[in-house]
Amino acid sequence: MAFNLFNTNPTSEDQDKKMILNAYRDLMKSMGSSLKRQDKKLIRRAFEIATDAHRHMRRKSGEPYILHPIAVAKIVATEISLGTTSVICALLHDTVEDTELTFDDIEREFGSTYSSIVEGLTKISNVVETNETTQQTENFRKILLTLADDPRVILIKIADRLHNMRTLASMRKDKQLKIASETSFIYAPLAHRLGLYEIKSELEDLSLKYTQEDIFNDIVSKLDNTKNERIAYIEEFITPIKTELDKARVRYDVSYRSKSINSIWNKMKNKKVSFEEVYDLFAVRFILNSKEKKEKEDCWKVYSILTNHYRPNPERLRDWISNPKSNGYEALHTTVMGPEGRWVEVQIRSARMNEIAEKGLAAHWKYKDGDTSKENKLDAWLKSIRELLTNPDSNTLELISDFKTDLFNDEIYCYTPKGEVRVLTKGGTALDFAFDIHSELGKTCIGAKVNYKLVPISHVLKNGDQVEIITSKKQKPHIDWLLYVVTGKAKSRIKYYLKEEKREKALEGQYELEKKLKSFGTPASKENLQILANHFNFDSILDFNYAISTGEFSTKKLRTIGFEGNKITLPAKHQESKKNTRSSTEDNDELSSKQFELILFGSEKGSKIDYKLAVCCNPIPGDDVFGFVTTGEGLKIHRNNCPNAPSLLAQYGHRVVKAKWAKNKEISFLTSIQITGLDDVGVINKITNIISGDLKVNMRSMSIDSKGGIFEGNITVFVKDKDELDKLLKELESLEGINRVRRIDLTEEV
Ligand code: MN
Repeated sequence: MAFNLFNTNPTSEDQDKKMILNAYRDLMKSMGSSLKRQDKKLIRRAFEIATDAHRHMRRKSGEPYILHPIAVAKIVATEISLGTTSVICALLHDTVEDTELTFDDIEREFGSTYSSIVEGLTKISNVVETNETTQQTENFRKILLTLADDPRVILIKIADRLHNMRTLASMRKDKQLKIASETSFIYAPLAHRLGLYEIKSELEDLSLKYTQEDIFNDIVSKLDNTKNERIAYIEEFITPIKTELDKARVRYDVSYRSKSINSIWNKMKNKKVSFEEVYDLFAVRFILNSKEKKEKEDCWKVYSILTNHYRPNPERLRDWISNPKSNGYEALHTTVMGPEGRWVEVQIRSARMNEIAEKGLAAHWKYKDGDTSKENKLDAWLKSIRELLTNPDSNTLELISDFKTDLFNDEIYCYTPKGEVRVLTKGGTALDFAFDIHSELGKTCIGAKVNYKLVPISHVLKNGDQVEIITSKKQKPHIDWLLYVVTGKAKSRIKYYLKEEKREKALEGQYELEKKLKSFGTPASKENLQILANHFNFDSILDFNYAISTGEFSTKKLRTIGFEGNKITLPAKHQESKKNTRSSTEDNDELSSKQFELILFGSEKGSKIDYKLAVCCNPIPGDDVFGFVTTGEGLKIHRNNCPNAPSLLAQYGHRVVKAKWAKNKEISFLTSIQITGLDDVGVINKITNIISGDLKVNMRSMSIDSKGGIFEGNITVFVKDKDELDKLLKELESLEGINRVRRIDLTEEV
């Protein structure tokens, strides 16, 4: 934290002392009367040490600095429900970093548990304070690693961040922006995953307030203006339910409040609607005062009374009582149709479940005795983080983005043939499931039996599915697999295997190159290899060796270079380079053998350009396209209507190159289509008949999901160009019972 060494505050010393003591008493009061004498003494000691250490420091607002650690300790005690150890560490959290105090001092005074928690907190803040924005992801990784060590570190850190956000107004504008965006990038997702829903909402709202002030203020004032009308509506909604609950002698509290400002803003943004069109601004919450043995029964009783009055949306029932989330969250959620045909979200939970919902992990620990199944889930989650982070070959940025999907997404529960529950990210496939059980199982997976029915590896799993993985020793991971998985674990393992395979293959190229250089009398030193790789336009020595091993690069080309002992003389650089016009199916036979051409406007006519097809939109000849100059991966071709196009054009207009297709040879391109229609027997047969029978198009994969008589299928096919694709779409559309056929984007990073 930034501080001011000089006492510039006009407040007298006595007034400061009074303020500090008041804050301290307030903290002790919030800890409750059941605090043991020994604990009270320890906290007092930590307070004295911290006050003394920070005695010359002030916050940007002018207050004595110690008020910040005291406030953090209070958040830790009251809003996260942690105990004495955490309160003490919160009081000490900035001492080692900002004052003379050392970890040894803390260890001597309190013991090693304390010093290592404070050390964890100091490590995180060291990275946070660097100005490099690129440090942000590295920072996130560090934070997650500490989380896996002792979750208390990250909980105290979240409290620290919450207090800094609450007092952000006194910071400089640029610092505000940086801290606020870091908060929404790192801390809010973490708070969410740890089950600290209240804190998560507050962090997000505060972050919005400092990053998009106009929007924030606008929503706040609109919420104020419509408050009375909304309260009247909800009162009308709950009155009949209350009457019935009283009759049934259920003891409960009911509350309702508007959703967080940030979530309203998200809705407006994602659904492209105005504030007035976001109708489900409220969530109604019933909290039951039931004994633990009866709470499940009571929750369903309330559900039943509620749905006797209002029609529930069957798609929106969430039973987290039978299957709690991995962060311990338990509740029953449903959305029902209220008066005037408006949807209202209702949450039903017991007082015990409510405490877990508000205080997350910590409250969860409090109740954990005896119930090992929940504890195991939490442990399994922490273990999976550790596995992800200690992956030897991971690229931090990718890792973070993979991990963040896991942080934010909902979960589904599937079973092994033996009945063991596995928690997967929503949208998870059979392949995700295989990797979740074991990397080896994932690596060799060729399909699965879901509820005894044979499905492909790309099959999307549903809650409650029983999954048996089928493997083959001959199977190995393919780059396409990245399109079939959603979990961070599966993604990072697949990327790892692909790299491993490439590295093995590249060894052959390396030997060949070394032999060749030896014949010139030139050592195959790392520097020399780098010079050659650069000269022939390869991103790395690995890529260079790999190209030699596949025959893509012939070592005969080395003749153009002058070798004289260790000295290498390079000719003038020309456009000799990798011949890779690869799409996402990198080592696919159909693609690597031949070329198709692309004309870039502004470049010389007929000159061949190296480029790759963007995997986010998989352009095919005939599509309207543009080129984008990437840093490090050369030119990438995107469709004009690629989902990433707006942001690329907006942010990096100067790197965009106009492009169009020149001609097309007999090659195929991978593209995806989505079909929706009425589920009737034989429909799949009809579809495959058109694809592989009539049009003789090569199908790569197909997954069909059907629900309530409607099916949705995703099919990946190889087509020659846009004409062929259009023809295929038209034919499929003309089938009876088919509702809609459209081309879809494969969701992958740019
Ligand atoms: Mn702090």
